[in-house]
Amino acid sequence: MRVDVFTLFPELVDGFARGSLLGRARTESRIDLRVRDLRAEAHGAHRSVDDSPFGGGAGMVLMAEPLFDAVEAVQRTEGLPRPLFLLSPGGQRFDQAKAQELASFDEGFSLLCGRYEGVDQRVADHLVDGELSVGDVVLSGGEVAALVILEAVARLVPGVLGNAESAEDESFADGLLEYPQYTRPSTFRGWVVPDVLLSGDHGRVARWRRAKALARTQERRPDLIEARGGLSDEETKLLTELAEPD
Ligand code: SAH
Repeated sequence: MRVDVFTLFPELVDGFARGSLLGRARTESRIDLRVRDLRAEAHGAHRSVDDSPFGGGAGMVLMAEPLFDAVEAVQRTEGLPRPLFLLSPGGQRFDQAKAQELASFDEGFSLLCGRYEGVDQRVADHLVDGELSVGDVVLSGGEVAALVILEAVARLVPGVLGNAESAEDESFADGLLEYPQYTRPSTFRGWVVPDVLLSGDHGRVARWRRAKALARTQERRPDLIEARGGLSDEETKLLTELAEPD
């Protein structure tokens, strides 16, 4: 899978990628990450990429021309994996389902990071295929958002995670939050691990985990339960059983 990231700060993206899971995925050639400098095709002594907004207002806006030029130069020479997404607070909300969708694009995809006050609207209208947001917050640039997306997608690419199963059992995998996890020691400062996890009874452990995932999701994220169409009879029963003392 190839992923191209266009940014004014290639070293931010490259640096994180080197020091993370992405680094290994890259050396093992599972992900071909190509970080591009948005200034690469910018002209003039200062290779300027931004200008003040028409209509007035604070800050600077990334100009259409250098962004089109940077993307089109790659398209011409190496081909560009599409879809190309602009990172933007106004984009479609990135979530686990979107991560799964992106991970299924064998040819990969591309990301374009904005900065300053944002990007000339003609980039959104005529250069990219869509816009993605990582949440209802405003970051100073698209780089951290691009890394959120890269990391979430990378761990879904087969072979990137050590244990192939570990991505399947996690939060959001089936529309639920994950059950609580514990490791040694079984008693820490007087706080004990639930008995069932020490029982060695895999069936009981599985039922307990499922019930905990349901209970936690119902308590913290009722919207997720609603989105999956409520609880089945079997799930309601599991929850009632869990509420009873052992
Ligand atoms: N003035 C803009 C914010 C610009 S922030 C507004 O009010 O909408 C500068 C850049 O950071 C954006 O162009 C975008 O690329 C990136 N960015 C900021 N917040 C983001 C978010 N929640 N998701 C994805 N990208 C974001």
